[in-house]
Amino acid sequence: MRAARLHEYTDEMGDALSIDDVDRPEATEGDHVVVEIEGAGWCQTDNHVIEGMWEEQMNQSLPMTLGHENAGVVAETGEDVTVVSEGDAVLCHPAMTCGVCRGCRRGQDMHCENLVFPGLSTDGGFAEYLLTNERAVVPLPDGVDLTEIAPHADAGITAYHAVKKAARELNPGEHAVVVGVGGLGHIGLQALRAMSAAEITAVDVKDEALKLAHDLGAHHTLNSRDEDVADEVDALTDGSGVEQILDFVGADETLDYAPNLLAAGGDHHVVGYGGHVHEPAQALVNGDFDYRGTLVGTYPELQELVALVAAGDVELRTSRYELDEINDVAEELERGEIEGRAVITP
Ligand SMILES: [Zn+2]
Ligand SMILES: [Zn+2]
Repeated sequence: MRAARLHEYTDEMGDALSIDDVDRPEATEGDHVVVEIEGAGWCQTDNHVIEGMWEEQMNQSLPMTLGHENAGVVAETGEDVTVVSEGDAVLCHPAMTCGVCRGCRRGQDMHCENLVFPGLSTDGGFAEYLLTNERAVVPLPDGVDLTEIAPHADAGITAYHAVKKAARELNPGEHAVVVGVGGLGHIGLQALRAMSAAEITAVDVKDEALKLAHDLGAHHTLNSRDEDVADEVDALTDGSGVEQILDFVGADETLDYAPNLLAAGGDHHVVGYGGHVHEPAQALVNGDFDYRGTLVGTYPELQELVALVAAGDVELRTSRYELDEINDVAEELERGEIEGRAVITP
């Protein structure tokens, strides 16, 4: 089968991956599931994998097939698999988990002590077939477009996981700020609208992103290039601040919103990454607020997100590419030129 593989870490996205002919994976263990890939989302994390940023955390050995946002049709199952059978449409939770460690038993898939992450630690889904396991596959209802839903396997679930934590803390009449209305942010905004009666303010530096936020149901929009976000939020909340911040950017500037925007006891959810938190401890004590990190999400959360998608509450903007175009996608994402989420259709 054909697979887009990384042979060497590089900063040159234009020829980062090569299309190799490799053996099709087989279900050699009882819980294995082989999925014929219909859609595999391209993620900023793929650019970071190519650059070598995940080499140590994931113990990678090259060459490796990338792609961790996968959806397709079950092609083969191990002898113990009962959740799905050949021909079923599935969305793949990005982690293959063991089910018996303490993290798994607590329902925290991402805390699995034996976690395998196809596309980051083993071969992923930029290929005709993917090897995963029974604990990872979410059966899909009829009529779901497999290419459209693929990015929810990582981008969607990560946004949803943060929103679910924020929504629990938001009562009607309270306020939330969504920072960054890009790939993850536009999913998070829709999930927040579906799960909370809070008043939502979207913040971005691009007017097109703010127009999208408005179309998707944000009550207020702020361009942080032109407006003082703290002053505007102060006016919108009569000086009381917002209860929850969902930060899909995670830059120094946006991480600095917490002490200036949050009501006492609020939370700043950090979803995007790259910046550093630099606040005096006294600001956290005085404001009684928390920074909360976000790492993907759980299997049940992916099922919940699928339910929101099936109900029409969350839609994803995608552009489709052939496997041969994969290096163009890597380059275009690096330059910020991709419309919505890029999905490879091997
Ligand atoms: Zn991803
Ligand atoms: Zn486990």
